Amino acid sequence: SPVVVAIDGPSGSGKSSVSKAVAARLGLAYLDTGAMYRAATVWSMETADLSDTVSVATAVRAMPLVMGLDPAAPGVELDGRDIAVTIRSTEVTAAVSKVASNLEVRSELKRLQREIIEQESSSVRAVHSGGRGIVAEGRDITTVVAPDADVRVLLTASEEARLRRRSLEVHGAADTEAVDATRDQVLRRDQDDAKVTQFHVAADGVVTVDSSDLDFEQTIDAVLAVVTQ
Ligand code: C5P
Repeated sequence: SPVVVAIDGPSGSGKSSVSKAVAARLGLAYLDTGAMYRAATVWSMETADLSDTVSVATAVRAMPLVMGLDPAAPGVELDGRDIAVTIRSTEVTAAVSKVASNLEVRSELKRLQREIIEQESSSVRAVHSGGRGIVAEGRDITTVVAPDADVRVLLTASEEARLRRRSLEVHGAADTEAVDATRDQVLRRDQDDAKVTQFHVAADGVVTVDSSDLDFEQTIDAVLAVVTQ
């Protein structure tokens, strides 16, 4: 029967790449909820006043967003435009926590996320799409969006490991200079995010996978072990 796998974690935990790989191995759909908050940020920058919470909430409720759920090619389309690259820009990354702290934005995105999860995990739909469920990842999936998920994982890693991975991702290097340049950005965003979502501690029933000393394949195996246990 269709399965819902919820994965939360901080930036640099390897959450996105691991979630995609797990979804691909299990033949499940994949939902990147962080990409939805990033898309909401792009849309707000374009059509709203970022300093006005009402304006941002109104914009996000009318956002023409289409999420691609294929783990091999998870697209993000806004008003017919492919914004997969735009949502990773420094400007968007710097502004996303502010948009994500808007409670009306959270409530709207939670509604959309539940709709997608419901659609991908309902047995009727699963038969037609050939899908067998979904892996949804973010900051509040195990606790708020899908607390009833069949499998719930908190993917953590030491601060050192997270900074090293982020630095490799953003700067293509993990020497002292590159890590230092990443530190402020990553830690500040984590602090801002922690005011709104609890992704540093596992909630009741959520299994913690610490990837600090695991490579990519080992982390995938550790998560798959939780799914199949
Ligand atoms: O995972 P990613 O770094 O792309 O997430 C971008 C931002 O979206 C986070 O920094 C956080 O502010 C927000 N977010 C959230 N709740 C989620 C997923 C992401 O608030 N479930």
